[in-house]
Amino acid sequence: MQILFNFAAKFELKSNVTKMNPTHIEHIGIAVKSLDESIPFFETLLGTKCYAIEEVADQKVRTAFLKIGQTKIELLEPTSPESTIAAFIEKNNGKGGMHHIAFAVEGLENQLAEAKEAGIRLIDEKPRGGAEGLNIAFLHPKSTFGVLTELCEKK
Ligand code: ZN
Repeated sequence: MQILFNFAAKFELKSNVTKMNPTHIEHIGIAVKSLDESIPFFETLLGTKCYAIEEVADQKVRTAFLKIGQTKIELLEPTSPESTIAAFIEKNNGKGGMHHIAFAVEGLENQLAEAKEAGIRLIDEKPRGGAEGLNIAFLHPKSTFGVLTELCEKK
């Protein structure tokens, strides 16, 4: 029984990996129903002001940024019911929550090619434009222990 369990666990957890050497955590993405409601909360909680609000039409979201050290908190509000953020909020009983972690990397395009080569499932095969003027790409959570992972690179 134990042997079977161990075998199953190994099979389930078998994970393909590649070395990405991120320089830092670029931001943490939090899905929210309303920026108007959540910005004052996070400003007070973190003792810092929201410094940018930006709509990313491509992803059907409005984003707001606060900064702690070199790491940002990215609040994401859906601008359409078809937004993946709207679907995420619905899945979470109508509440938002931790949505993704973003690492700053160098050589994003090569990193994606290497990740694919290693068998990691990619959401974005090629970098695309994200908020804050960054090139971004997402790795599929099925390949990253359930954590939606974003890679970012300065243009
Ligand atoms: Zn993000």
